[in-house]
Amino acid sequence: MVFYSPGRTTSYPEDHPKKGIRYHCLGGGDEVGNVGIVLEDAKKTRLLLDYGLAPTTPPRYPSEAPQVRDAVITHSHVDHLGMAPWLCANHRTRLHGTGLTAEISELMWHDCHKVSSIEKYPLAWDKRDIDTALESWNIHNFNESWMHNDWKLELKRAGHIPGAAMLNIETPERKILLSGDFDTRDSPLTKGAKPIKTETLFVEGTYGGREHPPLQEEEIKFTNHVQRVIDRGGKVLIPAFANGRTQDVVMRLHKHLPHLDVHVDGMGKRIAKMQMNHPETLRDPQSFKDAWSWCRRVSSKSDRKKALEADVIVSTSGMLQGGPSIWYLNRLRKDTSNAILFTGYQASNTGGRKLQNEGKINIFGNETDIPLEWKSYSFSTHAGHKEIIDFAAACEAEEVVVYHTDPNNARPPLVEELEKNGHIVHNPVNGISEYLGEEFSRSN
Ligand SMILES: [Zn+2]
Ligand SMILES: [Zn+2]
Repeated sequence: MVFYSPGRTTSYPEDHPKKGIRYHCLGGGDEVGNVGIVLEDAKKTRLLLDYGLAPTTPPRYPSEAPQVRDAVITHSHVDHLGMAPWLCANHRTRLHGTGLTAEISELMWHDCHKVSSIEKYPLAWDKRDIDTALESWNIHNFNESWMHNDWKLELKRAGHIPGAAMLNIETPERKILLSGDFDTRDSPLTKGAKPIKTETLFVEGTYGGREHPPLQEEEIKFTNHVQRVIDRGGKVLIPAFANGRTQDVVMRLHKHLPHLDVHVDGMGKRIAKMQMNHPETLRDPQSFKDAWSWCRRVSSKSDRKKALEADVIVSTSGMLQGGPSIWYLNRLRKDTSNAILFTGYQASNTGGRKLQNEGKINIFGNETDIPLEWKSYSFSTHAGHKEIIDFAAACEAEEVVVYHTDPNNARPPLVEELEKNGHIVHNPVNGISEYLGEEFSRSN
């Protein structure tokens, strides 16, 4: 067990609210990722929603969580569950989530631990705490409610990635819906989230002020681009995140370019197997299986060499931060007919961002020129601006708390439009407690 050291010190007000429902962002209030939100009522019912970290360089960590018996984990991305092992080891917290989220969590925690030791960043938990966390899971199916004191809790499909959930809460005082990371649009892997009538909506605002290009058009542009590179004798490297994007990309390639030889490498292979074990989380389990058995999975050193002869390599890391994608890039960079097609956001201080800005990347400690064509395609599975606005309206939410967002660029356009539509809007700030419901938020 490790004492909490990274990140900010605890800011949680230990007095209990005297009335109403209070929320407090330990992290994720006015930033993307790093989520941890405490909800509490006057009868001392307390619940933690997610407890992650932000895998930036260096990582960011939420404030220390107060003593809390139960935490709901919306999905298996590290910005939502990266700090859960600390929670379970220190507070004996029970984790609640879908079966697939629980299954993938083990991989995500081991990967998080590995990355922190390679990059020498502090982590407030150690490997033994992963075992404690794994024993702390309480599995819930979608649409099956359970009671947390007198709060009724229910997980609802969030889109985003397989197993991702929104949390619907009915307290005697108020109905609350937490979106988690969500998307109302279908992706190849998952069905989009459906609105639920509520009074308070906590909504992620990652894409505030930005609209996604129409998915079908983006998919056609992407697969045409792949084919163009193949036609000129090149190979395509597609760096992709392991948890969701790798599998989405393979399904898109299988649908449009079934004649190609596509090899897949990295953690996405193990995650795909887990996803297949939970067909209830998938939009079309059979077409996922077909796509997955069509591509070749790299599982040995000799496979990796063979993959260099393939048309397309889909591999982690999605941001060219280590992982097999760097190994491939180091070989593919020598032939300028090859290309790199990004399928996700490249954060600052990552290899992918450096390549996009400077045409260079660090490979095994050496700054290396990458004279290859590259292009980014947007296959995000976060709701875009319009989807967020429409979702809030369809939920008929009286008040909307916009969290998991960049407070300077993404949130203001969202707030403006939500207020125009008649919602009362909260702009949570990490470390500051607020009350839900107009009558309470005014008097506190
Ligand atoms: Zn997130
Ligand atoms: Zn996510």
